Amino acid sequence: MKTVCQTEELRAAVAKARAAGMKVGLVPTMGAFHEGHLSLVREARGENGFVVVSIFVNPAQFGPDEDIGKYPRDLEGDSRKLEELGVDLVFAPGVEAMYPPGAGTKVVPAPGLINRMCGLTRPGHFEGVATIVAKLFNLVEPDAAYFGQKDYQQSVVIRHLARDLDFDLEVRVLPTVREDDGLAMSSRNAYLSGDERREATALFRALTAGGAVIERGEREASRIRAAMQEVIESAKGVQTDYLEAADAETLEIRERLIPGRVVLAGAVFLGKTRLIDNILVDIPE
Ligand code: AMP
Repeated sequence: MKTVCQTEELRAAVAKARAAGMKVGLVPTMGAFHEGHLSLVREARGENGFVVVSIFVNPAQFGPDEDIGKYPRDLEGDSRKLEELGVDLVFAPGVEAMYPPGAGTKVVPAPGLINRMCGLTRPGHFEGVATIVAKLFNLVEPDAAYFGQKDYQQSVVIRHLARDLDFDLEVRVLPTVREDDGLAMSSRNAYLSGDERREATALFRALTAGGAVIERGEREASRIRAAMQEVIESAKGVQTDYLEAADAETLEIRERLIPGRVVLAGAVFLGKTRLIDNILVDIPE
């Protein structure tokens, strides 16, 4: 496994693999790996001759009130895990390598994808995500790129980005990996105190409760949101940021759900820590 920090080295290593006829898979990450990240790497390893994992805590996707300095980092531990999984290339650039002085061009996702859910609480976040992902797509030109369903709105933004800007690659979105009690794995779970960690399952329980009322025939979004909110309120120290039922393809929010795939998505605060999660529900004709 090789680790490079400069874009020229990245391009050169990928070009070599491609010249040898290998299919190239890319897994973009911010590091501090847990099983969720590693599940993407394993899938990429199984489907490609050459696997690139990028590790970059992207300042452009953090807001002014979000402490990027506190984001967990462990390049050494991460590298060991990637080596074990047989990754070929780690790209771990510094901020200057990705944003040289004067770099100001941004990729702006369609407003309808970002003027809701996480986009409301984190203005500018998805521009930051779309910009860095577009840059990585241009640098690596992968055949396939791997993302987690855990960040559902992000996965929709990236699918649309690839389609709208004609990136010739497959966007693969893999299921959320959870702890035994249902909590979605997240690097941010490390911020939780013992009490907060126990209460943190409320979000997944709320989404599951929303799914259950849909299964029982409920189609009014307000009632579905209320069923989810009730679970959050029964937990101690958990505050709702949002709880939504949205069209899984377009993220459109309808007051009455129609047949098709719906994403139940939410974000909650435990103290200063913000956690997100989602589940998919199919509504029959
Ligand atoms: P991050 O390092 O948080 O930017 O995440 C890198 C990738 O891992 C993203 O595509 C995330 O959606 C994905 N990911 C994060 N947590 C999970 C999880 N619990 N299960 C599956 N994928 C995940």
